[in-house]
Amino acid sequence: MMDTQIVTQHQDGLADLHRIFDVQHGVTRGGLAPTLQARKSRLEKLRQMLVANEAAFVAAISSDFGNRSADETRMLEIGLVLNGIRCARKGLARWMRPEKRHVDVAFQPAKAWVRHEPLGVVGIISPWNYPLFLSLGPLVDVIAAGNRAMIKPSELTPRFSDLLARTIADTFAEDEIRVVTGGVEVAQAFSELPFDHLVFTGSTGVGRKVMLAAAANLTPVTLELGGKSPAIVCDDVDVAKVAKSVAFGKFLNAGQTCIAPDYALVPSSQVEAFGKAVIAAVGKFYPTLAGNGDYTSIISDRHYSRLVGAVDEARAAGATVLSARDDGVAAVRKVAPTVVIGAPENGVLMREEIFGPVLPVIGYDSLDEALAFINRRDRPLALYAFSHQRETLEKIVDGAISGGVTLNGTLLHAAQDGMAFGGVGPSGIGGYHGRDGFIRFSHARSVLKIGFINVFEKLGPPWGGLARTVSK
Ligand code: NAD
Repeated sequence: MMDTQIVTQHQDGLADLHRIFDVQHGVTRGGLAPTLQARKSRLEKLRQMLVANEAAFVAAISSDFGNRSADETRMLEIGLVLNGIRCARKGLARWMRPEKRHVDVAFQPAKAWVRHEPLGVVGIISPWNYPLFLSLGPLVDVIAAGNRAMIKPSELTPRFSDLLARTIADTFAEDEIRVVTGGVEVAQAFSELPFDHLVFTGSTGVGRKVMLAAAANLTPVTLELGGKSPAIVCDDVDVAKVAKSVAFGKFLNAGQTCIAPDYALVPSSQVEAFGKAVIAAVGKFYPTLAGNGDYTSIISDRHYSRLVGAVDEARAAGATVLSARDDGVAAVRKVAPTVVIGAPENGVLMREEIFGPVLPVIGYDSLDEALAFINRRDRPLALYAFSHQRETLEKIVDGAISGGVTLNGTLLHAAQDGMAFGGVGPSGIGGYHGRDGFIRFSHARSVLKIGFINVFEKLGPPWGGLARTVSK
């Protein structure tokens, strides 16, 4: 009985997928781009939907996680999407204006301009860690650019995904925006649809599969992927202050943040002091853990065991483990904030993206050595550096390429609508947010208007050697 139900739901999901795509595809091929007013009205409807359902979204996400800090959901998910909407509504008229371009003297008199036009139907595949922000954040820019959208949220946040599907269906027409829910089979079929653009946020491994599926349709992709983002602590800073900043970025959402500092590089003589200062900062942020609503649970048993296993492996290899222990955390799938000193380079903690509240601290003797350590690995999604010296910060930014950077802090570059957020190499392809998102999800269409005379048509053919004169 159970199996039949699952199979039927699965088939329904797949059938819906193609039907909705056909409906949206049809309207994008049939008419004019949505006006400024139509786009602003969609953004306003999205804003109202979010505000009206804030409590329900907070509750659904918390129940998917086991416990998710309500303030984190309000601030890092709903708040950031509302900021994005505000920015788009404010900038849209300017962004949509055709851009005048230079015409070379050889082609005068003529006028040239670029129009940013909708691409059509954009697919959005989102992960579980910030399920709302990473579904609706891209959607804001996709709507601003005048597109239709289909969203496939993660199967690991089923209550959130169902709520999103319902609220979007209540707010928007089927030919505007729809959410499709389901497991990996639905996600795979989703990525095979001939979208005009596909935005995927998730792991690097699945990102590869999505890009392969998209290639069959020549669908352009934006891939927001993962990686190991380092924090470099220089020898001129107050270790306790920086430890607090790193702990803030690391333990928010219990480390399940794509741009969380994955590991810290600290001058060798200060490794122990820094590790202790991180644990001291944690004690202030989260005086208790198990019953503390501010400290988020790990999303699934599999991820919980993965994290505990990785720390056990490092401990068995001789690493020192400092932990803000609180008995009972296992029962609510919380992993206590943990610092690992001396994690082996070939162990899970230093080989894979950690994606949990475990911070390896690694000593270095020179800045060049720290930069070489980063550059031996894949280009990370984010880079953090702490120093009072401008030259030192510049050396670090120049010396290690990453998707984005926050200097003397963590995470906050991703909260800016004034600049693109994205990865580089294995941490991603393409960025969005604000105007950069509008541009990313638009087609930059070049238009040339010939003036009262077209010199090229006037002169030939037969060219009579003109090409040789022009090329000199
Ligand atoms: P994931 O790659 O396992 O899943 C992401 C989405 O892909 C889900 O909706 C899933 O249903 C779908 N999916 C799974 N298999 C698929 C397939 N074969 N074809 C198409 N879609 C498929 O990622 P996750 O575990 O949900 O999220 C964690 C990862 O996401 C981490 O690596 C993290 O760094 C990364 N991440 C990146 C960013 C960013 O902005 N760069 C943000 C958040 C998370």
